[in-house]
Amino acid sequence: MFIKIHYAKIIKILIITFFVILSISFFSTEVSAEVIEADLTSSIEIQGLEKDFIEDGFKGNEEFSGNEITDTELDEFENYVVDTDDYSESETSGLSVVTENEDVYDEEAESSVTIQPEHSESDVLDETYSIESQITDLDILTADAEQNNEADALYNKIKRSGYVSERWNLARQFKDLYPSDSRVQEVIDFAATSMLNYGVSLHQAGNLSSAISCYDRVILEETVSRSIVDQAKKYKELAKAGTILESPTNLYNKIKRSGYVSERWNLAQQFKDLYPSDSRVQEVIDFAATSMLNYGVSLHQAGKYDQAVNCYNIILSENSIASKTRVDVEKYKTFALNNEKIVKVIYLDPGHGGSDPGANYYGIREADLNLKVSHMVKDGLVKLGYKVLMSRTSDTYIDYLDRAIDANAKNPDLFVSIHHNAAPNWPNATGIETYYYQYHPNWPPKINQEMHNDPSRIQKSASLATDIQNALINATGAVNRGVQRNTFLVLRETKMPAALIELGFMSNYSELQKLLNRSYQRVLANAIVKGIHNQFIE
Ligand SMILES: [Zn+2]
Repeated sequence: MFIKIHYAKIIKILIITFFVILSISFFSTEVSAEVIEADLTSSIEIQGLEKDFIEDGFKGNEEFSGNEITDTELDEFENYVVDTDDYSESETSGLSVVTENEDVYDEEAESSVTIQPEHSESDVLDETYSIESQITDLDILTADAEQNNEADALYNKIKRSGYVSERWNLARQFKDLYPSDSRVQEVIDFAATSMLNYGVSLHQAGNLSSAISCYDRVILEETVSRSIVDQAKKYKELAKAGTILESPTNLYNKIKRSGYVSERWNLAQQFKDLYPSDSRVQEVIDFAATSMLNYGVSLHQAGKYDQAVNCYNIILSENSIASKTRVDVEKYKTFALNNEKIVKVIYLDPGHGGSDPGANYYGIREADLNLKVSHMVKDGLVKLGYKVLMSRTSDTYIDYLDRAIDANAKNPDLFVSIHHNAAPNWPNATGIETYYYQYHPNWPPKINQEMHNDPSRIQKSASLATDIQNALINATGAVNRGVQRNTFLVLRETKMPAALIELGFMSNYSELQKLLNRSYQRVLANAIVKGIHNQFIE
């Protein structure tokens, strides 16, 4: 029985085991199938996710790389916002300051409240009043001192702050807290200038909306000085019109490089307008005015009087031009309005010529050098609108007295004789000298008794010689042998102001090398032109 039962049990167990195994194997197949399916979906999903992610990332990158500027701008703006946050933080700390100060105010208010009845009591009780009022005066003084200390602290904080918006907020706080402090205008303008400059830097970077918000702050703060507000308004208009500000250096270079007179003029005006406190304002205005004047003179001399007058009027409309230029332009304008040219006549006398070579060193004839430089001087003068006459234009001999006779007959405004020097016994002699007439009893005038020593002629001759000599020395850095006086024939016999130039020593080998150099000759000629031109621009 026991065995039977056992046998039956074993069979039962076996059968159960069989079913269990069967069912387990069935379920396990299902589960593994599910797992596989799940695995599949998840991996597909992940792949999908990755694909999306990659696409997003790609799009993101595209946006990022495509708009780098915007991004930098954003950064800037964020910085600015951070800055503003700073400012709101400082506003919070400012609030605590305000509270403290309110306390001070309250104390003051309280004390002033207590003062009032004491004052009225004191009307009755004189002695008490004087004692108590002294005490309250002391209290007030202490309170004032405390307030002064705090005002000083805030003032210093404003001055030291490295943040534009912090500076701005502290300055406004200062104004609110200490409205009667003498430094209110100073700190407000200080902060406004910082704000304006910050706006300009944003504006230059093309961040127009942030720039405008800076300008608006300056414009809307009523305490800011007029000139700063006006400047902010000007910049704001430009920003609103979408015009990006050019930096002063860019603008300066643009002016210097411009080949157009009117462009140069307009840019110079813009420079003055946008950066009135820049140290280069006067320079660019003068530069543009000189261009405009030269252009006007060239039109004038070509008989285009109306156009010349237009140029002159443009120059005269600019109030910061040199007064010297203004006088000159007004004179020219009068001529043009009368349909008259500005004709100043200069008589140039290249020394020696033909059979008279002058100094003669290393195969070089002074007469040739004199003629070369004289032609260059002539070109320069003609460009400035002068009429130029010459004693000779080629290698020909002309007697000195004949030169004076010719000049006197043509009555030029000035006479300038051009020579080169030589000192046979001093081979190291070097430098430039310019002469005007000196009477000498041994050499009385032959044809010019009347004018040789005329004070006005002498005075004008001295001025001519001095200006030429100075211009030559400034331009060349040569040894300055100064303005000298002599009774040279052409200086004695001419009726108009006259000067004679010795441009350098041909007997000095190294100086001769310079004198033979074409660009050095041009420098000499330009300096002579400048010295002559100076006689006509007071
Ligand atoms: Zn000579």
